[in-house]
Amino acid sequence: MDADVLVVGAGLAGLRCARVLHDAGHEVLVLEAADAVGGRIRTERVDGFLVDRGFQLLNPAYPAVRRWVDVDALGLQGFGAGVAAVTDSGTTALGHPVRAPRLLPQTMRTSLGRPGEIAAVLRWAGPLVRPRRNESLSHVLAGRNDVDRAAGLDRAGVDGLMRRVVDRFFAGVLLEDDGSTADRFALLLAWMFVRGVPSLPAAGMQALPEQVAAPLGDRVQLGQRVDRVAATSVAAGDRTWTARQVVVATDGPGAHELIGVEVPATKGVVTTWWSATDAPSSDLLHVDARHQPRGPLVNAAVVSRAAPTYAPAGRHLVQGSALLGPGRSSDEPAMRRHAGDLLGVDPSGWEVVARHEVPDALPVQPAPYSPHRPVRVGELVVCGDHRDTGSIQGALVSGQRAADSVLAALR
Ligand SMILES: Cc1cc2nc3c(=O)[nH]c(=O)nc-3n(C[C@H](O)[C@H](O)[C@H](O)COP(=O)(O)OP(=O)(O)OC[C@H]3O[C@@H](n4cnc5c(N)ncnc54)[C@H](O)[C@@H]3O)c2cc1C
Repeated sequence: MDADVLVVGAGLAGLRCARVLHDAGHEVLVLEAADAVGGRIRTERVDGFLVDRGFQLLNPAYPAVRRWVDVDALGLQGFGAGVAAVTDSGTTALGHPVRAPRLLPQTMRTSLGRPGEIAAVLRWAGPLVRPRRNESLSHVLAGRNDVDRAAGLDRAGVDGLMRRVVDRFFAGVLLEDDGSTADRFALLLAWMFVRGVPSLPAAGMQALPEQVAAPLGDRVQLGQRVDRVAATSVAAGDRTWTARQVVVATDGPGAHELIGVEVPATKGVVTTWWSATDAPSSDLLHVDARHQPRGPLVNAAVVSRAAPTYAPAGRHLVQGSALLGPGRSSDEPAMRRHAGDLLGVDPSGWEVVARHEVPDALPVQPAPYSPHRPVRVGELVVCGDHRDTGSIQGALVSGQRAADSVLAALR
């Protein structure tokens, strides 16, 4: 026997699962196809820039992050607590009233002219804004109608500029612009955004999975693409490993391919990273809240204003992200034009640092919303964000649930 437990995949879910089992004294072996840990959370260094494989952010308010990650050791660099909305009459910033006091005048100006719209947003987010004493978030959400977010926002009467801001912001976070994600999940994310500042680690997003993996040492073997899985063995090419339990911790499509388990469809995103000598001072995400968006991007940002470690001295790092999918065009010139337009600068002097297309970035999460899909599938244990919520939080929680199930079985 090569180990007590074999874990296939060293993304956050597989790593969390392996860590729990390792910490409980079990022999664990993690087999990972890629040349590093992290799965969908990878960082490259290009010409002195740090670029993540697809723009993403770590919200330190995620309960799983607070519980299981040494956030201080990551040296988090926070984005501004708000959003810059490009409207038909100019750019305005909308910020958290307490966390972003410098945005307060603009936020007030925009909000005061739209009392009806603000009231509707508060109606939508009401239970989160005013939870009753001792009421947990899941309890609040359980009492909510299980519809998609378009219907949830319609029902609350959210319209006008505020609706466009909410829709365009969520398009970048949920990677869909048709309102098809479960309203409850959108609310859950809104709750997290109100409580935490989305951030980037000093050494790039990959520092997060590397921290989870560190105590596992050589119990993680890279470059091992598993092509067959059975209850107590896995094989990669000619090599076979055996164990008392196998955990499949790949992404959703990978799990379907290996063991035929039913998984949700996926959504994709493309991020282009540019180097710029000059950049606006904004550390916010910029979204196109005009009636007719003028390009393919769901958001753009001067990443190095929020996270200075992402660019070498004297340079700036800009990102623009667009949805991938049939009928969508995301060629570099169109993305560059739109990013310059959203940030209010001439982008002609920018140089491309990297471009990342991630077709299977997130699982779809339509209503009815079910965050906890079973991790036990026949004799196997399966984890990954496709068993939970499509997020860092969901991947970590699914890994924990898988480990709990293995521990119970081994006992
Ligand atoms: C561009 C982008 C932006 C995102 N933005 C955010 C965000 O802002 N906030 C947030 O919370 N979440 C975000 N996410 C989602 C988050 O990154 C994922 O939910 C999470 O990382 C998934 O982790 P996982 O372990 O479930 O899967 P993965 O990270 O996909 O890990 C699966 C691992 O299995 C390996 N594997 C697959 N098949 C095999 C095989 N046959 N043999 C061996 N190994 C195999 C893969 O190489 C991979 O390492 C984003 C994701 C992307 C891609």
